[in-house]
Amino acid sequence: MANDSENLLKKVIAHAKEYGFIFPSSEIYDGLSAVYDYGQNGVELKNNIKEYWWKFMTQMHDNIVGIDAAIFMHPTTWKASGHVDAFNDPMVDNKDSKKRYRADVLVEDAIGKMEEKIEKEIDKAAKRFGDAFNKEQFVQTNARVLEYQKKIDEANARLKEAMNKNDMAAMKQLIVDLEINDPISGTKNWTDVRQFNLMFSTEMGSVADDANKIYLRPETAQGIFVNFLNVQKTGRMKIPFGIAQIGKAFRNEIVARQFIFRMREFEQMEMQFFVKPGTEMEWYEKWKQKRMKWHQTLGLGENNYRFHDHLNLAHYANAACDIQFNFPMGFKELEGIHSRTDFDLKSHEKFSGKKLQYFDSESNQSYVPFVVETSVGLDRMFLSVLATSYKEEKIAGAEGEAGSERVVLSIPPALAPYKIAVLPLVKKDGLSEKAEEVMNLLKHDFRCYYEDKDTIGRRYRRMDAIGTPYCITIDHQTLQDNSVTIRERDTMRQERISITAVREKIQKLVSITELLKKVS
Ligand code: ATP
Repeated sequence: MANDSENLLKKVIAHAKEYGFIFPSSEIYDGLSAVYDYGQNGVELKNNIKEYWWKFMTQMHDNIVGIDAAIFMHPTTWKASGHVDAFNDPMVDNKDSKKRYRADVLVEDAIGKMEEKIEKEIDKAAKRFGDAFNKEQFVQTNARVLEYQKKIDEANARLKEAMNKNDMAAMKQLIVDLEINDPISGTKNWTDVRQFNLMFSTEMGSVADDANKIYLRPETAQGIFVNFLNVQKTGRMKIPFGIAQIGKAFRNEIVARQFIFRMREFEQMEMQFFVKPGTEMEWYEKWKQKRMKWHQTLGLGENNYRFHDHLNLAHYANAACDIQFNFPMGFKELEGIHSRTDFDLKSHEKFSGKKLQYFDSESNQSYVPFVVETSVGLDRMFLSVLATSYKEEKIAGAEGEAGSERVVLSIPPALAPYKIAVLPLVKKDGLSEKAEEVMNLLKHDFRCYYEDKDTIGRRYRRMDAIGTPYCITIDHQTLQDNSVTIRERDTMRQERISITAVREKIQKLVSITELLKKVS
């Protein structure tokens, strides 16, 4: 991670804590690794992200309904899904630093470094040759680039083979051959690579024998698969249709050092879309486009998103890609879109002995549907919004605010924890009472923040820091003509309007409904 990005992430973490967005879990006991609590502002932002997703998926698609399945499921669920046998990550320890790493990530990072070297060669040559530079030709003929590319291809092929064959000795050899150093100790003193199952388990009931072992779900999807027929029958759903769910998932991640990007307890927003076999590719493409549009409508910058196709497909998938976001640590997975075939439903049929088939009344046939899944991490969405919104600005000349600096969260207004701050200029002269009247007028429609302490400039700063898009100031003139000043967070522009016009002015700008209209 480059220094600037590292600094940005550090600043975002500190800001999130200082302003009640995110606290380390059980902090008075020094925290719990990769577990976080959402504070009074964080929970509002998180709920708004959920609402944007939920309403888009369910309200905007009359063939998608939601459920809320339990976190605990019958243990055989996880045998059928493949998680008991295969939800593993290869781990390796450095004997000197005593740090633990994911072996596949070490290899991928080493490959990434070689790719960077190619980019550097290209940049150098582009400068040297100027307008005459032909990138394609250069990449195909330059000896150094070809050498790097050969190494990259070899490493990718060996990584794929080691992972597919579950060959951890080959994985270790790859780390040795690529001469990978531990970034902390700088040494190559590695342990053997071992597989590590990421599921948390616990016991149910009072007798702690193995029969009572149950798991905390590592994904929400299986709660949807096992309820497929319940929902289809009771909801009289016709294929194609979807089931959506938002809920907690748990993974004992080997390396969890990137704030809420990789947590051990996190939240997923998943949707399984059940389709007729043979039509899954068409739906996969449709959902890719729809999900990308949903993200981009938030306004965090279209260039901050990109698709990344999976080359190494999971055993159950016939196509898969990620929507990556430009996080402070670089482009990383925000959402996964997977064509999961009929793997899960068939497997649950086998393990449960119950049929999980759809009767198609048109063709008079029963079949196990194929599934296209969209799965986005709620916490990663939160981080994408927070990190992109965080801005440090010098203030140029807005009235009463000149000559200072501010930290502002330019959170998309529809997602902001508070939509409006109601600020009486001073507490006396009846201004507080007037401000309370304004609060009472607006609080049914908007989450409002009331604040009467400190100078108005300081109060604006605090509202900027939690991303409140509008501040309404009540002053002496308000008492005379019922007008207030309304200040817009990003431009800091102020205008005077009548109290009765506030609601209408703001409603459209801060409403999730308007965002939803733009997506569709
Ligand atoms: P990664 O490769 O980053 O471990 P994954 O491919 O295992 O992610 P999926 O199983 O596809 O992730 O899960 C779907 C989504 O859930 C991801 O796109 C991500 O947004 C989110 N997610 C997965 N693991 C975590 C985690 N440990 N912490 C926070 N969010 C997560």
